[in-house]
Amino acid sequence: MSDLQSGVQTLHLTAGYDVERVRRMFPILAQQIYGKPLIYLDSAATSQKPLAVIEAMSHFFLQENANVHRGVHYLSVRATEEYEKARSKVQGFLNAEHVEEIVFVRGTTEAVNLVAQTYGKAQLRDGDEVLISAMEHHSNIVPWQMLCEQTGARLRVAPIDDAGELLLDELERLIGPRTRLVAVTHVSNVLGTINPIRRIVELAHAQGARVLIDGAQAAPHLKIDVRALGCDFYALSGHKMYGPTGIGVLYGRRELLDAMPPYQGGGDMILSVSFEKTIYNKPPYKFEAGTPNMVGAIGLGAAIDFLAALGPEAIAAHEQRVLAYAQKALAAVPGLRLIGTAAQKVGVLSFVLDGIHPHDIGTILDREGIAIRTGHHCAQPLMNRFGLAATARASLGCYSNEQDIDGLVAGLAKVQEVFR
Ligand code: PLP
Repeated sequence: MSDLQSGVQTLHLTAGYDVERVRRMFPILAQQIYGKPLIYLDSAATSQKPLAVIEAMSHFFLQENANVHRGVHYLSVRATEEYEKARSKVQGFLNAEHVEEIVFVRGTTEAVNLVAQTYGKAQLRDGDEVLISAMEHHSNIVPWQMLCEQTGARLRVAPIDDAGELLLDELERLIGPRTRLVAVTHVSNVLGTINPIRRIVELAHAQGARVLIDGAQAAPHLKIDVRALGCDFYALSGHKMYGPTGIGVLYGRRELLDAMPPYQGGGDMILSVSFEKTIYNKPPYKFEAGTPNMVGAIGLGAAIDFLAALGPEAIAAHEQRVLAYAQKALAAVPGLRLIGTAAQKVGVLSFVLDGIHPHDIGTILDREGIAIRTGHHCAQPLMNRFGLAATARASLGCYSNEQDIDGLVAGLAKVQEVFR
């Protein structure tokens, strides 16, 4: 084990949050871009990976690689153990009651599509309703639109206010006896808003509707407890929470997963196959057809260990300090307007600058070594809500610090100089 890995394991024992030490665990952050130190402010698109995750994945390939659930040989048994250990880590991370409630998928997008095409297709009828919010990512909109086209169900949308907070009274009004599913994001990828999930679940359950939470942007920042939230489904992506791409999780209540039809057919999701009849496997395997992303799951498990070692509360407190610093610094930039000013939010700062297109902002900042995201952020209906085609977005991670924000503000001054 490297020093950096063992450093992770002892980090929570040290007083305070040593962001410089955290940064050293992310080798990519040490590089220069166009001769300038990298300032990475695009963690909401994808987070950087700590050495502990990279090493866990290379260790798997170097020492343990074999297909899972199939072989009787040593390596296959070992790979299966590691893969299933990763599932247990996810169970702990989400505080799920049963390990069978954890389905490995490609990411949040696949998790939402899985629920729409299995639970949704089996349960929804003409005239039923799916309720989402106005701040959803396309991956929590389009799968429901497809389901509505297939079933005759109707998509309804709960509005938000100008600060980017859900209008709970409106949401309550929109949940009725025909509402079968409420699908909302825990945290907005554009506004940073943290939604009141427990309350939304209460309102939905009171009308007999099931609730799916898109946790893609919550998992890296918040302590997640699916039992305390009371949700029926929870989706997340490994790559947003310091793990690799191509792996994500669908949490589903056991009784729902048991009753749901399978998603894709293939190896591993069956108990027996004949040309006359196939008997499906039990969850979670029923939903994991084909060779899974074993190394991805192991990397995700290492990311969960990494988050636990830092401490979700310590990360959140640190990110809130940098967020407050950033909000103040950006508010002082002439002509800058922040989009998304909810009282409860994570470190996602969307903004527009008077008279300058967000893509120009992103391109000029890039030459300064500063990585931000520009565009519609896969949330075009939300952009329309604010009367915008695009924004610039700086987003924070556990390694972000005040110097990153100072660099951003200095970069924005250069952007404004170019357009003066
Ligand atoms: N939901 C939200 C809120 C997101 O921010 C994203 C990704 O940006 C997704 C869903 C989709 O995640 P993925 O592309 O990892 O499936």
